[in-house]
Amino acid sequence: MNKKLSSIIKAGESKVKKSQAGVKKRANSIFAAMSVAHVDDDDIIVKPSKMQGETISKGHKNYELMLNLQLGIRHSVGRPAPATSLDLRDTAFNPKEKIWTRFPPQGSKHTPPHQSSAFKWKDYCPLVFRTLRKLFKVDPADYMISICGDDALRVLSSPGKSGSFFYSTNDDKYMIKTMKKSEVKVLIRMLQAYYNHVRAFENTLVTKFFGLHCVKMTGHAHKKVRFVIMGNLFCTKYAIHRRFDLKGSSQGRLTDKPESEIDSTTTLKDLDLNFIFRLQKSWFQEFSRQVDRDCDFLEQERIMDYSLLVGIHFIQISRTGEPLTTEASISQVQTSSGDGDQASGEAAPELSRLGINMPAQAELAMRRNDCELAMEPMGEYCDVILILGIIDILQDYDISKKLEHAYKSFHYDPSSISAVDPSQYSRRFRDFIFRIFTQDTT
Ligand code: ATP
Repeated sequence: MNKKLSSIIKAGESKVKKSQAGVKKRANSIFAAMSVAHVDDDDIIVKPSKMQGETISKGHKNYELMLNLQLGIRHSVGRPAPATSLDLRDTAFNPKEKIWTRFPPQGSKHTPPHQSSAFKWKDYCPLVFRTLRKLFKVDPADYMISICGDDALRVLSSPGKSGSFFYSTNDDKYMIKTMKKSEVKVLIRMLQAYYNHVRAFENTLVTKFFGLHCVKMTGHAHKKVRFVIMGNLFCTKYAIHRRFDLKGSSQGRLTDKPESEIDSTTTLKDLDLNFIFRLQKSWFQEFSRQVDRDCDFLEQERIMDYSLLVGIHFIQISRTGEPLTTEASISQVQTSSGDGDQASGEAAPELSRLGINMPAQAELAMRRNDCELAMEPMGEYCDVILILGIIDILQDYDISKKLEHAYKSFHYDPSSISAVDPSQYSRRFRDFIFRIFTQDTT
């Protein structure tokens, strides 16, 4: 094991003990990060950008779960393993490839002592996830620092409809999502196809998965928590001013929050969208090719209910956070975007690639009516940076979705409901995406 990794493991072990002894106290910093939005050269607004979620400090109901998770990750990532090639054998994907480890409080030959109740830790297909991390160029030591380092995890306040909980690492690089058993099954079932897909297409927009685990807690908190570790799409230096979760369906696809509560951390939906995005030719071509490949892959795996998550950074915004239309050319965006580091002149702009920090123009659009997706462009443009990816890819068209489809079809137009079979889903999703992302012809 490399030196950096083993010293992190040791430091982490003593950290867990300390924090369990109650030494560590953390403040819940809601407005921790500051970002800067440029209006013009002389007029720079310092805009607080909200750090989402609540820090899990001692006394939090998920505190013990977090410590177990950190001990488990440290164990999984730090476990000595021979260097592997990216060509994995079929056996690595076998659903039976899982390792249970006991974590008794007094410690064992392979696990450190700790002060919570005994728990068991399960790694699903460990070799595959180790290799995925390598493929995604994740350094094991950095991965451990992000998840198990001194900074605690944050629990995000608004779990999705599925009832899953989301945690974020303090550096915002990773998200941890709790999963239903059925979702774990889907991921294991499609793991080989997923691996081949992300390996073949470096620019894929589908979520990056880094680990799949289960904690089985004993004592009074007796429960099993399964979770996946994935990349946080919005881990970028650009402040995200608007975010949309887009499925291409209209039923229930309007935010239920009153306008006064909507801010830059609110995830808006299809019927809230009021932009059409114009991409330069090369971006547009690459984007359409990749959306097609990713949708074909998801359709083949019989997956539906996924979303395109889109984060928008407006190059120029007003003091109240509204986008301003601008004359600036989109080729200049990388030098004019707003963030704290750039304002202090320290950091270089982040590079763009498909889905990450893509320059585009957003044209304001108006919905023809409140419950249809069709929009009329309004001829007013603003320069934006887009961050996007396809998330929530672990729902197959199972019996519950078929029943949901049957039930909702009685009440609503069947083409407007989210739950439809995977080929229909993929077709409708692409149709919608290619209506709102178009090639810039100016
Ligand atoms: P639902 O059933 O309502 O669709 P869910 O519980 O299955 O929700 P997701 O759709 O996976 O959860 O995610 C809910 C929200 O969490 C997303 O709309 C998005 O705001 C955020 N989110 C999920 N995955 C990511 C990610 N990889 N990066 C950044 N944000 C994410």
